[in-house]
Amino acid sequence: MNDPLPPLREVIREYDLRAKKSFGQNFLLDLNLTRRIARIPGDLSKAVVYEVGPGPGGLTRALLMEDAGRVLSVEMDKRCLPALADVSTAFGDRLTVVEGDALQINEPEVLGLSDTQSSGVTEAHIVSNLPYNVGTQLLIKWLTLADWKPWYTSLTLMFQREVAERIVAKPGTKAYGRLSVLAQWRGQVKIAMKVPAAAFTPPPKVESAVIHYRPSEPIDADVKLGDLEKVVEKAFMQRRKMLRASLKGLVPDTISLIEAAGLEPTQRAETVSVEQFVRLAKVYRRTLDGTA
Ligand code: SAM
Repeated sequence: MNDPLPPLREVIREYDLRAKKSFGQNFLLDLNLTRRIARIPGDLSKAVVYEVGPGPGGLTRALLMEDAGRVLSVEMDKRCLPALADVSTAFGDRLTVVEGDALQINEPEVLGLSDTQSSGVTEAHIVSNLPYNVGTQLLIKWLTLADWKPWYTSLTLMFQREVAERIVAKPGTKAYGRLSVLAQWRGQVKIAMKVPAAAFTPPPKVESAVIHYRPSEPIDADVKLGDLEKVVEKAFMQRRKMLRASLKGLVPDTISLIEAAGLEPTQRAETVSVEQFVRLAKVYRRTLDGTA
């Protein structure tokens, strides 16, 4: 499908949408690039896409041109709403725009996912060129849902490259940490595309990358998310220290906890695999409950 709208540069000029730093605005104006991002999740024709921060609508248009069944975009910057209304009209109202803060949104409710039968929508995908100032917070919101049959089928998200590398990092690397464990203990994640700073208007100081994430069964369904978050946070808070020091205070006998999980007290957090963190969280729970 061809683009029925004027070029984005014209739209930005017409509606005076100069990028604001406070909103984390770095726009993508190249439709070839945004269409490549829109294709990452696969066939979207029967899906609803949830997009955070459409801005002037570059990625939004690309999603609609790539045949997304429906797109719901949440934008905080009121200035963008008239330009987005034009996109909605041009694409036969397949786009709905909600003004608001994505951190506060109850997504299944605004997407109407409880009513999937009557809407014909079979799945929801999140696709976004995230505002960098709240990107990690949003990712954590989506990775830490209590109900692990998540409402979304996949995440396709632009981050600063350094953050993307932390999300996909493997043990034994500097980038490996809390984000890696949260993203990998019940999901598959990869870097789907690297994006140079020059692709954005204005260009940010650093390179970017798009990650693609699909939720899966957890490594161990008995582990409580809160317990995993607790041990991982504590272990990485002082990542250079050995586990016997960094985990101190978690339970009265830290060494027994570490050994019962099959780990060495002298290991450092970055050498502990995702599976081992999951085991550690399980032993932690048993210790707290007095059943270890
Ligand atoms: N999607 C557009 C593109 O690719 O050109 C804009 C991406 S820009 C990196 C991030 C967008 O998110 C901006 O339009 C900004 O106003 C919006 N935004 C920032 N914080 C937000 C929040 N908490 N909730 C919703 N939108 C937000």
